[in-house]
Order: sequence, then structure tokens, then C-alpha cells
Amino acid sequence: MHRILILGGTAEARQLAHKLAGRDDVAVTLSLAGRTASPAPQGVPVRVGGFGGSKGLAKYLASERINVLIDATHPYASTMSDSAARAVELIDVRLLALRRPQWVPVRGDRWTEVADAQHALAALGKEPRHVFLALGRQELSPFKQAPQHHYLIRSVDPVSPPLAVPHATYVTGRGPFSEADDRALLREHHINAIVCKNSGGDATYGKIAAARSMQVEVIMITRPKLPDVPAVETVEDVLAWLDHADTP
Ligand code: NAP
Repeated sequence: MHRILILGGTAEARQLAHKLAGRDDVAVTLSLAGRTASPAPQGVPVRVGGFGGSKGLAKYLASERINVLIDATHPYASTMSDSAARAVELIDVRLLALRRPQWVPVRGDRWTEVADAQHALAALGKEPRHVFLALGRQELSPFKQAPQHHYLIRSVDPVSPPLAVPHATYVTGRGPFSEADDRALLREHHINAIVCKNSGGDATYGKIAAARSMQVEVIMITRPKLPDVPAVETVEDVLAWLDHADTP
């Protein structure tokens, strides 16, 4: 019997949970950080909020008698992934990471790759631009330093308090976002630069394809370094791994 904890917050984590939900040979809980006010239904029991670092996670795994930990967090949630990798050094639990492949630039893309939001800000330059900030609500504050730009900010929940800049427009929405819709959004807001993360997957690729077709620059914040643990790229790979995994 696998007693599984999925570290979630991604479409793949949700898909995996739904695939496992009906099975009687597994018991599944999904963990969310609590970043969105009303998360999409996950199909399995959900717990919400941090564990208190790797020791807190190890304690939780022991108390819930979890023997399989699936790290299906967002590729930029590296603190959580590091914590998972350290937790399984403290306790006998199998760990598998589900990491979607990153996007790679193709012909026609105009990408500038930068290490973080601060470097993205520098890459925008001093001249006023119309910038689509496709970042998490917690990642916006560096852009206060560049009040000359017009910002378009899209988030799942409203940004509160708003970013302290004179020109900001907010839209709320939950992916997937199509290329056609994102092209219309870029056109409507006269966007000439996008700042985003290399999330991978289809759900948020619309803006990348739209930018290509409209010759809009994409300032791409590169992925953080993730721990060196066994990893697969798809939900199907996780299911196959589970069917062959020995559990402690
Ligand atoms: P993080 O920096 O890796 O995590 C910070 C802390 O949040 C962790 O140390 C952990 O607290 C808690 N946490 C994170 N994921 C959790 C989970 N699935 N279950 C329980 N606790 C969790 O991640 P982040 O601050 O959420 O976001 C970092 C980047 O990932 C941002 O770029 C964000 O936009 C992106 N992202 C995150 C999510 C998400 O659901 N978290 C979704 C989409 C995108 P403790 O140390 O106390 O355990």
C-alpha cells in the first residue's frame, strides 16, 4: 500500500491526484502552500500551509505514515523542493520529483534570459515600456523601482495592496490561457515586453507564442537550481514509477 503525499500547486499535481483518486491500493493526500484563496478542486484530501522546513515535513510524513513523497511543485518553488529532498534524508520515504520540461526558444522568439526579477528590471531599461508582468503576486515588488513603465499584471487573486507605481492595470484569471486570447491581451494593452518565468507546460505558453507572432520581447527569468533527486517529466511517468516502486 502506497501512502502518498503529493506536494502540489500545479496542474500536473492536480491531474496526478485525480488519476489516483479512485484507486484502492493507494491513500493520497495533496499539500498546497495556500497561495490562492480558492484553489481548484484536487480530487483527493488536501492539507494547506507550510510544514516548517524539512524537519517539520519529516515529522508530518512520520505522523501520517507516508511512504511515498511526490514533489509536483512548481519548478520555481525550489525552497519546497529542497525541503523535500532534505526531509527524506531524515526519514525512510521514497521521493520522486515531477518536473515539467522547460520551454526552449524557437525561431522567431526574442528572449532575454535573466537570473531573477531584479535582473529583469535592469533588462527592461530606462525608457518607458508597456510591460506584461506574468509573475506571482509575491514577485512584483522589485518593479516599484521602475515607475516609468506601464504594467499589466495578471494573477489568480487580486493583487492587494496594489503595486506602488503610477501606471498599473490588473486582470485576474486562472490558466490555461490560449495564444489567441493572449495575443488579444497584448494588443489591447500595447505590450512591448513580457517578464515571465520558464514554467514549461501548455497552460501558460499562450503568451510565449503570442509574443513570437507579434515580435514582442520576452524577458525570461531562468529556473532556479533544483535538488538532485529522482525525477520524471509526466504524470504517466509517475504512475508507472508508482506501479514498480518498492515502499519502505
Ligand atoms: P517556495 O519558495 O518553494 O516555498 C516557500 C515555502 O512555502 C516552503 O518552504 C513551504 O513552507 C511552503 N510551501 C511551498 N509549497 C508548498 C506545498 N505544496 N505544500 C505546503 N507548503 C508549501 O514556493 P512559493 O513561495 O510558493 O513560490 C515560489 C515560486 O513558485 C514563485 O515563483 C511562485 O510564483 C511559483 N509558484 C508556486 C506555486 C505554489 O503553489 N506554491 C504555484 C505556482 C507557482 P515550509 O518551509 O514551512 O514547509
